[in-house]
Amino acid sequence: MQNSNSVTVKYLIVGQGLVGTWMSYHLDKAGIPYKIINDPNIQSATSVASGVINPVTGRRIVQTWMIDTILPYAVAQYKDIATTLNIDIIRTAPIILIHPSDQMKESFEYRLNHENIYLFKQDSTKWEPYFKTPFDTGAIDDCYWMDLNTMTQYWKEYLQQNNHFINDRFNFNDLQLNDSGVEWKNIQAETIIFCDGLNSMHNPYFNALPFAPNKGQALIVKIPGLPNEHVYKNNVSIVPWADELFWVGSNYEWTFSDNKPTEDFKAKMIESLNQLLTLPYEIVDHIVGIRPANTQRRPFVGTHPSYPQLAICNGMGTKGCSLAPYFTKQLLEHLEYGKGIEPEADVKRFASILKEINKN
Ligand SMILES: Cc1cc2nc3c(=O)[nH]c(=O)nc-3n(C[C@H](O)[C@H](O)[C@H](O)COP(=O)(O)OP(=O)(O)OC[C@H]3O[C@@H](n4cnc5c(N)ncnc54)[C@H](O)[C@@H]3O)c2cc1C
Repeated sequence: MQNSNSVTVKYLIVGQGLVGTWMSYHLDKAGIPYKIINDPNIQSATSVASGVINPVTGRRIVQTWMIDTILPYAVAQYKDIATTLNIDIIRTAPIILIHPSDQMKESFEYRLNHENIYLFKQDSTKWEPYFKTPFDTGAIDDCYWMDLNTMTQYWKEYLQQNNHFINDRFNFNDLQLNDSGVEWKNIQAETIIFCDGLNSMHNPYFNALPFAPNKGQALIVKIPGLPNEHVYKNNVSIVPWADELFWVGSNYEWTFSDNKPTEDFKAKMIESLNQLLTLPYEIVDHIVGIRPANTQRRPFVGTHPSYPQLAICNGMGTKGCSLAPYFTKQLLEHLEYGKGIEPEADVKRFASILKEINKN
């Protein structure tokens, strides 16, 4: 039953981290009516992410999943939003690999000579004023760095100015499903799209998905004199953050009891920085986030098999920067035009467990 204050939109989005930002951006560009709810008091992974897209991964330095398709799309989209908002948020940032051991150097050189697109040689002497380089250096091309906090903040202001943004906490007790879609407080929508990161673990419709949250910490460190056009990688990553500030991290904690910074992590980073840097540095902050990761390392994208008015875009894990622009667009085209979703990402692969939950 609609009351006189009710608002009707086509889509209601929950969460304005990376995923909610991209979901709303695509809807906005398509001119489709939407609202987006976000509670800034709920910690977001996006706000502590280093914002790097690296096309290769792991100790074996192999290409990441779907990178040939996803990377050019993501870069074009970040440039597009930067132009729309008139902000400077994306830059190329080759990763300088300061090999931490002979083994890592050999691994790099093997890949350099086998099926390599992204790796190239580096002259170590160029980096000697800043780092100790006993095992030489290499580099990865086609890497990008995004200023995610500036992007989400400016996009939030745009959403507020255009009356799309609701500063509130979404609670399932306020959600009703009906024949025409959903109703939340005074808002009617055809579809609700959950882009609420870790919070989807508590979503009664989607909590059977195999989430595997992963805690990551980083230090924000002032390193005067270190060039900030590159990302540096050794046992730690050193990523430009703002002016003379660098993001230093991270770790991957699969078991943890809280989302607080730990002294143990800080001590490890200090040890690594002391071994690596020849420049003085000063720690200015210690930040923590929980990645909405999952056991399959593939996103959760699509609609609920029993409730088509419930959609989800989640499970971006360690790769939200590259995956979010692409999969939010796929979800939009699926909802609007019935286009297919990449099978490895489609939430329908969990149809049996999602249906079982509904029966109970
Ligand atoms: C230390 C660290 C470093 C990382 N570095 C990188 C990197 O370099 N490159 C990369 O690609 N990825 C990186 N990641 C991963 C990346 O941060 C995530 O993949 C991505 O941010 C996930 O975005 P999201 O929108 O799904 O979730 P989130 O960013 O967590 O956003 C969820 C949003 O939903 C809101 N919300 C939740 N519940 C509710 C509710 N009930 N009501 C209202 N609002 C709600 C929250 O406030 C939040 O704004 C890193 C992560 C960590 C922790």
